[in-house]
Amino acid sequence: MTEKTIFSKIIDREIPADIVYEDEVALAFKDLNPQAPVHLLIIPKKAIASANDITSADREIIGHLHWVAAQIAERDGFAADGYRTVMNCNDNGGQTVYHIHLHLLAGKAFGWPPY
Ligand code: C5P
Repeated sequence: MTEKTIFSKIIDREIPADIVYEDEVALAFKDLNPQAPVHLLIIPKKAIASANDITSADREIIGHLHWVAAQIAERDGFAADGYRTVMNCNDNGGQTVYHIHLHLLAGKAFGWPPY
């Protein structure tokens, strides 16, 4: 068995996190090193390492992460102002934790392109 990632440990309540949403498929918590006034990470309970590891059976789970982002945006009052979702993949994408996650950033206007 491969070593559990820090995010699997958060799911299993082995390490603490500021959890803001949970359902049977996904969990969302505050990023420890926020890059915006709102910076949440939305993760599936299933341990998928990266975007490269999404199988056809996972398509509903990945769509669910985006649905959760929209639910939180509505619930927390920033849907109308807007927000950004980002999924980093591997080194060039800047991925550091190999449990797939959707960043949900809000509370300011973001620039584009992202460099
Ligand atoms: O996309 P990337 O893999 O770089 O994102 C990982 C994110 O997980 C970072 O934004 C980092 O701040 C966050 N993190 C966290 N809590 C941890 C470990 C990492 O919020 N315990």
